[in-house]
Amino acid sequence: MDVLNCKSCGKLFVRQSSDLCIDCIRKDHTDFEKVREFLRERRKIRTSPIDVEQAIGVKRETVLRYIKDGRLLMSEISQMEITCESCGNPSRDGTICAECRDKLRRDLAQAMLDSSNPSKPRTYRT
Ligand SMILES: [Zn+2]
Ligand SMILES: [Zn+2]
Repeated sequence: MDVLNCKSCGKLFVRQSSDLCIDCIRKDHTDFEKVREFLRERRKIRTSPIDVEQAIGVKRETVLRYIKDGRLLMSEISQMEITCESCGNPSRDGTICAECRDKLRRDLAQAMLDSSNPSKPRTYRT
């Protein structure tokens, strides 16, 4: 039997198919439906995750997670104002803009170069 702490509330529970306890799974589902409903109502109105948080009380991190996980359809988030976590510029498909993602990738490649053993052949996958 696998017992672990819930990723969300920290409560101990018996692992089923998720890292969340049953209460949090339920809550997550309700929150998700609320976000969806809200976005449907506000179609064509620019909305940011902060607006969602203020209007229906679902945390912006949660909203961003739904977007990142691809649970909200592109058409549902087309009016969403998603800004880059790193530079604050608008970002379309997640929480980091293309520019910052490129930069991160370069930094990562550089870090790997710095730490890798020069005698080993290197393969990079992005
Ligand atoms: Zn929980
Ligand atoms: Zn950025």
